[in-house]
Amino acid sequence: MVEVSSRELLLEQEKILKRAVDLLGYDENVYEALRYPERVIQVKIPVRMRDGKVKVFIGWRSEHNSALGPYKGGIRFHPATTMEEVIALSMMMTWKNALAGLPYGGGKGGVRVDPHALTPYELEQLSRGFIRGIYKYIGVDKDIPAPDVYTNPQIMAWMMDEYYRITGENQFGMITGKPKILGGMETRIIATGFGTAVSAREVAKLLWGGIEGKTVAVQGYGNAGYYAAKFLHEMGAIVVAVSDSRGGIYNSKGLDPDEVKKVKSEKGSVIYYEKAEKKITNEQLLELDVDVLVPAAIENVITKENMERIKAKVIAEAANGPVTAEADVYLSLQKKVIIIPDILANAGGVIMSHIEWMNNRMGGFITEEQARTMLENKMVQNTHAVWEFWHKELDPAKHTMRDAAYALAVKRVVEAMKLRGLL
Ligand code: GLU
Repeated sequence: MVEVSSRELLLEQEKILKRAVDLLGYDENVYEALRYPERVIQVKIPVRMRDGKVKVFIGWRSEHNSALGPYKGGIRFHPATTMEEVIALSMMMTWKNALAGLPYGGGKGGVRVDPHALTPYELEQLSRGFIRGIYKYIGVDKDIPAPDVYTNPQIMAWMMDEYYRITGENQFGMITGKPKILGGMETRIIATGFGTAVSAREVAKLLWGGIEGKTVAVQGYGNAGYYAAKFLHEMGAIVVAVSDSRGGIYNSKGLDPDEVKKVKSEKGSVIYYEKAEKKITNEQLLELDVDVLVPAAIENVITKENMERIKAKVIAEAANGPVTAEADVYLSLQKKVIIIPDILANAGGVIMSHIEWMNNRMGGFITEEQARTMLENKMVQNTHAVWEFWHKELDPAKHTMRDAAYALAVKRVVEAMKLRGLL
């Protein structure tokens, strides 16, 4: 796996923002106004560990922009998380939410921790401790966290409960991605991967008349990767390769995503799936000659180091930031690869969060079926809106699909800031 520091993720986001600002004809002043987060909170979280000693963890919540509404974005628990990474991801949430037409600004949280090394009790204390550090700044109309890498509905439940203990407000809408019994939507679990599959299907319709029979490779078999593979398979695509952090598998006739998932759950990795023709590395998976490549693992996996070897015709970004700005421009403009950018392709998670938040505020009557239809419709509309803007307002020979998505999003945020007197 190509490792790039989190400082670079922030630089990448700044580069992409600069392209969008230039494209829209805004001046340096606008770039400076959008570049920095409105607030970054750093917290120290002491946790008494199983050996009786107190261990200190560091976490951040970055609130990037609130022009369109309360900050919204997940919280990740990851051993490599840094403040700069959290800032970059919060900026990405501003554009993602604006592009999806949600009434939210952008935020993101992160704690530097390996959650797999904690006992459930330690994990609960860490989750509660993080909320104790940031509770003043969050709330149903202020900043609404959600799951991200290595966080889940149970963690959201602890966080909601801690918020209640401190403030006395039993607000279900202060956090999303909760268990169903606490106001969550079961559809949240499939939302990111399903949304990515829908956006890839829509682009496939525009390019080839449909996704049926098209080959797909998926890098990363967590929530986003597995459900993207599952739904693309159900839509009639042939999933020829999947991988996780331990390696990948390939089968020219196609893999059954559910069978592979079962093996991963039982044995710990997709590589133990026996019906595969061969094992491959993550690097090889990215370079396969497939119709659709879905990077669903981590950031910066397609960079200037490997971009010349990429053969996929469409890349649907289920992860946040898997393709660097330089590789995006090279692949889109030189090799004519269609790259469906993260802020469009993986917006399914936050779109479902919005449905959950609305449902909580209304006292809850949206059914799972309605939620899924609302999500699918929004993903279809958003994909076509970006495509149309790209082809009608911009020149696809000079601008990437990411440029189109960012331009649309930045324009909305700038308009809101101007109306509020912030620009
Ligand atoms: N963590 C997800 C993302 O990166 C979802 C955020 C949310 O639901 O607020 O988009």
